[in-house]
Amino acid sequence: MAFENLTIKEILEKYRRIWAIHHASSVLGWDMEVYMPKQGIMERSVAEGELSVMSQELLLEPDFVALVDKAAGFDNLSEEENGIVRVLKRDIKISSSFPPEFVREVSETTSKATSAWKEAKDKDDYSKFAPWLDKLMDIGRRAADYLGYEKYPYDALLDMFEEGLTTDDVESIFSKLENELKPILDKILSEDKVPKEHPLEKLKYDTKAMSRVNEEIVRMFGFPIGERSRIDVSAHPFTTEFGVNDVRITTRYEGFDFKRSVLSTVHEFGHALYELQQNPDFMFTPIIGGVSLGIHESQSRFWENVIGRSIEFAELMHPILKKHVPEIGEYSPEEIYWYFNTVRPDLIRTEADVVTYNFHILVRFKIEKIMINEGIKAKDLPELWNEEMEKLLGIKPKSYADGILQDIHWAHGTIGYFPTYTIGTLLSVQLASHMEKDIGKIGEHVRNQDFKPIKEWLKNKIHKYGSIYPPKELVRRSIGENLEPEYFIKYVREKYL
Ligand code: MG
Repeated sequence: MAFENLTIKEILEKYRRIWAIHHASSVLGWDMEVYMPKQGIMERSVAEGELSVMSQELLLEPDFVALVDKAAGFDNLSEEENGIVRVLKRDIKISSSFPPEFVREVSETTSKATSAWKEAKDKDDYSKFAPWLDKLMDIGRRAADYLGYEKYPYDALLDMFEEGLTTDDVESIFSKLENELKPILDKILSEDKVPKEHPLEKLKYDTKAMSRVNEEIVRMFGFPIGERSRIDVSAHPFTTEFGVNDVRITTRYEGFDFKRSVLSTVHEFGHALYELQQNPDFMFTPIIGGVSLGIHESQSRFWENVIGRSIEFAELMHPILKKHVPEIGEYSPEEIYWYFNTVRPDLIRTEADVVTYNFHILVRFKIEKIMINEGIKAKDLPELWNEEMEKLLGIKPKSYADGILQDIHWAHGTIGYFPTYTIGTLLSVQLASHMEKDIGKIGEHVRNQDFKPIKEWLKNKIHKYGSIYPPKELVRRSIGENLEPEYFIKYVREKYL
């Protein structure tokens, strides 16, 4: 057992109750997305709200905080024990930063803003959401003030989602992408090598048959369905972990364009694997589980993009498709590969391809930065959105629903979340490049259905550390480098040009 220090043991003893509340609340959240009838929402929200208050009370109990402070003063703790102190100090700091009346205001505003956003999007009427967005920006700025920051208020919000991430970090990543990836995208679009669309996008499939395809694919990766995991259906696919031995994913079925279903299943498998390969010694402790959204997304993007969009995977998937959905099996593996790798500027982020995706995030980053650091009015945002879309992707939304109203994030009060998608995407390719130095060509392993060396590498470099180290330190320790967008730029150039 990794924990010897008596104070740490005492902390963990108390922490089990907080862990249990998180466990229960994850089950409620999963059920809400997968099984709950519509009208259950009101009671479910109250139950979830009460549970989160209970866990916050336990976290901020003076005895508990005193124990954590005491442990922080020791200089003989193990790495794991130091990790526990770091995670708890951070949780306590964030939880104690906001006065209760502010927490209540956030919760009321975001729930009303979310229904206003839904109505605005349905009616394509931005004026229904704009006043709420002004309130949400104000809340974001005040949240940053409560949390504190060194340089920009937006830094405080970024840090909430990705510990240690700053405006300057994101700025430097995106300026490279804008300068180097944009010309590559333009070149891809001007050449014929990469298709812009594919007939398979229109082909209808039977949902039951496709669910057998998805199941066979994740079983082939080693997803322990029935033993330690499940796969269900929800409107927006997600992964949730109740513990090391109960990690669940969901997927979606639109009945056409099957790559959306397959790739989102493979994506969620990547998130799930991160949780399944945790060190069981960390069970019931604050360091169990993925360390940040960006690192988590690097795992899902690795499986989705590096594995799922490879020619070897198309070859592997072909007989499975042929068996369950014969009309798709008529297309060759190479055709399926190109169908999975089409590139075309589109208005909707969630449907974007590997190359254009990051530009969707860039539009949002530019806007969020101004929202928080400079103070802009909601009424001026759609124009800004449209200008950036035109500049980066050469297309302009014709409606608000396809433009500034498309994402739910801001209505939920999450400003500063989007950049973690790009962090994950870039990091996944960088990790893949380091992995190949150690285990040889990833494609060869995929061709041989030999996923073990890939999973072992991810486990030993990332998964087994849980949340011991903050994200930037984890990356430096595992590959000896910081996040470097150059890997992704090179990957896109080599793959698509
Ligand atoms: Mg994800």
